[in-house]
Amino acid sequence: IHRNPGEAEFHQAVREVIDTLGPVLRKHPEFADHKIIERICEPERQIIFRVPWQDDRGEVHINRGFRVEFNSALGPYKGGLRFHPSVYLGIVKFLGFEQIFKNALTGLPIGGAKGGSDFDPKGKSDDEVMRFCQSFMTELYRHLGEYTDVPAGDIGVGAREIGYLFGQYKRITNRYESGVLTGKNPQWGGALVRREATGYGAVYFVDEMLKVRGQSFEGKRCVVSGSGNVAIYTIEKIQELGGKVVACSDSAGVIYHKDGINLETLKRLKEVERERIAGYVKEHRDAEYIAGGNIWEIPCQVAMPSATQNELDGESARQLVANGCIAVGEGANMPTTPEGVRVFSEAGTSYAPGKAANAGGVATSALEMQQNASRDAWTFDYTERRLHEIMKEIHRSCYEMAEEFGSPGNYVIGANAVGFIRVAEAMVAFGLI
Ligand code: NDP
Repeated sequence: IHRNPGEAEFHQAVREVIDTLGPVLRKHPEFADHKIIERICEPERQIIFRVPWQDDRGEVHINRGFRVEFNSALGPYKGGLRFHPSVYLGIVKFLGFEQIFKNALTGLPIGGAKGGSDFDPKGKSDDEVMRFCQSFMTELYRHLGEYTDVPAGDIGVGAREIGYLFGQYKRITNRYESGVLTGKNPQWGGALVRREATGYGAVYFVDEMLKVRGQSFEGKRCVVSGSGNVAIYTIEKIQELGGKVVACSDSAGVIYHKDGINLETLKRLKEVERERIAGYVKEHRDAEYIAGGNIWEIPCQVAMPSATQNELDGESARQLVANGCIAVGEGANMPTTPEGVRVFSEAGTSYAPGKAANAGGVATSALEMQQNASRDAWTFDYTERRLHEIMKEIHRSCYEMAEEFGSPGNYVIGANAVGFIRVAEAMVAFGLI
């Protein structure tokens, strides 16, 4: 903690992993001999830079840009960029640290990284977003490359931003290097299913957890927080599997629609009009908008936090359990506080941590890199089948590992152990670097 003062989220993410690794380290004393824990907690490289840009009135703004290249034992650095006013080094490092293990869990050759800026895209014009992205990439490009570091989107960074970033990279380097960014539009090198992948993947993972309990999504009442990329495609896949999503949210409030959220309206509001969800009730008079509400008070059997870190605390977890929630799958990164995780564990709620449940996004990014490397484009159905197989495999490996370490059904232990062992073995093999 004294080496990384003030980085609360990073401390939280590290503690959550380290606390579960006792049995792994007892079985693998070589990891301690090689100081893997100490090395894995120190990023290989951290880049912090100034991002100056001009708004539409000509006023100059200065934001801060970050890229933390955390670990490249298994492949080039890979992880998203987040544009949100709350971004600072502690957030980027927590996300980058989680990304190491998540990427290892996919079984694909990708290392862990994360980046972003405290830039707030809300209320900005397309031109302002473009100028910001160009300035951001003007510094970052020198650290990127198909074999070096491959960013993607995250909160506040979607296909529009990836387009501007890619355009500037191409212009500066004079290289049409498709594999340098993922999450691109499928018309110019993006993978089909990448947009849907995190949400679909999280639902596939929860579906596997429900199967273990002898259940399925059919007829289940579900709640999905957020209303961004992950939330929308989580809702879509739950509906396809026969579940009913009765609530979603944004940072201002909650929509409760007891007959089920209308996905067409939600997609139009968020993806086309870039509006707030409050507008949903104008078209659906039987739905309710609860300004500043807590979505976890709405009774459900399956909860899928898909907005942001620490959005589900101990109190909310107790409420969910009391209301009969049997499964929680994290589409977001670290949305449940440590106390919330304890509540679920003690109640016997099936709980899928983000690094396992939301790994479908980065896995499909790795599939996008494969397509770019071979100058090929796969069909939607084929790519979705690959995603589904990957999610089933992540579930199986976490489940079996948890059993092997004497904690059946504990996906936190399973996910941390699988991810850590894969990275640690590579680090041992590569020697002291
Ligand atoms: P988006 O920007 O598309 O959507 C984010 C959603 O979360 C919005 O509804 C936003 O509401 C809400 N939100 C963001 N910050 C806060 C906050 N501080 N308090 C309350 N609500 C908030 O992002 P994504 O859907 O891409 O990302 C959501 C989560 O999923 C993040 O934790 C991200 O790291 C994780 N994730 C994303 C992946 C991806 O492929 N996109 C992959 C793996 C994980 P508002 O509009 O009001 O800000």
